[in-house]
Amino acid sequence: MNIHEYQGKSILASFGVQIQRGIVAETSEEAVKAAKQLHIETGTSWWVVKAQIHAGGRGKGGGVKLAKSIEEVQERANAIIGMQLITPQTGPQGKKVNKVLIAEDVYYPGESKTAEFYMSVLLNRQTGRNIIMYSTEGGMDIEEVAHNTPDKIYKEEIDPKVGLQAFQARKIAFNLGLSGKAFKEMVKFVEALYKAYVASDSSMFEINPVLKTSDDKIIAVDAKVNLDDNALFRHPDYAAMRDKSEEDPTEVEASENDLNYVKLDGNVGCMVNGAGLAMATMDIIKLSGGEPANFLDVGGTANAARVEKAFRIILKDETVKAILVNIFGGIVRCDRVAQGIVDAYKNIGEIKVPIIVRLQGTNAVEAKKIIDESGLKVKSAIQLQEAADAVKEVLA
Ligand code: GDP
Ligand code: MN
Repeated sequence: MNIHEYQGKSILASFGVQIQRGIVAETSEEAVKAAKQLHIETGTSWWVVKAQIHAGGRGKGGGVKLAKSIEEVQERANAIIGMQLITPQTGPQGKKVNKVLIAEDVYYPGESKTAEFYMSVLLNRQTGRNIIMYSTEGGMDIEEVAHNTPDKIYKEEIDPKVGLQAFQARKIAFNLGLSGKAFKEMVKFVEALYKAYVASDSSMFEINPVLKTSDDKIIAVDAKVNLDDNALFRHPDYAAMRDKSEEDPTEVEASENDLNYVKLDGNVGCMVNGAGLAMATMDIIKLSGGEPANFLDVGGTANAARVEKAFRIILKDETVKAILVNIFGGIVRCDRVAQGIVDAYKNIGEIKVPIIVRLQGTNAVEAKKIIDESGLKVKSAIQLQEAADAVKEVLA
């Protein structure tokens, strides 16, 4: 699960990671109040207004602006809240900004002794170990750094048995070219960051930039935090950070109905039981000349209610030209599934796109009969090849 920068920073801070402080605001009035409050708490009289959306590259898209007075905070907040922010990560349609973070300015203007680093913590799936990835080239596009100057990206792998060792944190501070107070602060930063990553059950932290201030403090200026969905039950306070307005509405509806649905770009909707079969079905669709419009696993209980919900979700997608239902009846009997499909179809009313139903397994023959005798515009199949041919035919 993705969360906003301000939420990520609050998690980091709770584990002792030093952060650029800020207060979230949903209106320009709240922004002004936040700026005044920050002035009292930190003494800052310059602020940064930062759009809160689930995408990076906000600075490039005009979603991060410095404000040198309260009036400017109000102006900037007014301009950013409600804007459709387009960044390299949002796609051309952009994302609507509902909140801004009013943050203290930490770059202390006029002083040049600051430095921006890159740091992320993530799982190396090949070795099954966490790694800390870091670079002296912070603040900019890390993909570009990786492409042009890969030698400037360092990786430190952590043994899960013993955790992050002090010498590793020191090595990181050394490789980043630090000495004196900044070196010690970086060691503390890395240790706190790694502790936060493990304890919060995160699947990724990306802090870009990590800033060395002119007075040698080390702080997280940005925070991209991805939490492991499977561990959210252990962190109800993090689960409450979910912002559904940032997610695809159809995917939200599907997850509320316990359906595993992922929207894709193709024209053939599919409904399948089991993730493996769903992937095989997507391959079949491709082989028959179509492109899958979605991944949808209805799970083990393909009853009428679930099938109906799944149909409704697939049909929301206007690019869908055909639907392929591919159900294997192992524990669930095919004839019951077939009856469920017929009932669901009748409940929804007229469905304009052709439907191909392939039922294989227990009572497959009876199931085919139910579909064929239903009088609905549904084509039945038992063999996968027949189903693929039927998809090809309707797309032609
Ligand atoms: P991103 O563009 O979505 O990655 O958002 P960031 O939080 O990384 O902010 C983008 C850029 O804004 C940073 O790389 C900084 O250069 C700049 N920035 C962030 N905070 C401050 C600040 O306190 N003062 C100044 N002057 N610039 C800032
Ligand atoms: Mn950033």
